[in-house]
Amino acid sequence: MFLVGHAAVGVAAVSALGITNPVTAFGVGWFSHYVADFLPHGDEPVGEWAKKGNEIFRLAFILAFDGALFLGIFGSYIWTHGPSIPLAAAALGSFVPDIMWGTEKVVKRQLFGPLSRFHASNHNFFHPRIPVWVGLAWQGSVTVLLWTWLMLR
Ligand SMILES: [Zn+2]
Repeated sequence: MFLVGHAAVGVAAVSALGITNPVTAFGVGWFSHYVADFLPHGDEPVGEWAKKGNEIFRLAFILAFDGALFLGIFGSYIWTHGPSIPLAAAALGSFVPDIMWGTEKVVKRQLFGPLSRFHASNHNFFHPRIPVWVGLAWQGSVTVLLWTWLMLR
């Protein structure tokens, strides 16, 4: 799942639960990553595309767009709602498993042992054969719906 989607799930969960402690918010954001990853979300072809060229470069390219999109949306949220440490912590927490995954890719070494194995086996757990566009449409809709709900709160 894209980071802008992971952040939407983590921030929405923390906001809905009314969590104000930044450490708890970070933990809930982190946990929400696994919940979101567990469901099919259609971005396997992105990973396959990355592997067809310079993988690190292609992943960095996607990260630049994904990150800019997140910063734009979260920036406008902060602009309209005021700064929030718990929600920033939730977003940061929701990125942790993919930051660990990306770090291992860059250094080409397993650094996080069981956490990495859990992340990989949990990802799209049932591997159903659904068309890519269905997964992406579902992921995109959830992302848009959650950010819209947050903006209107
Ligand atoms: Zn993940």
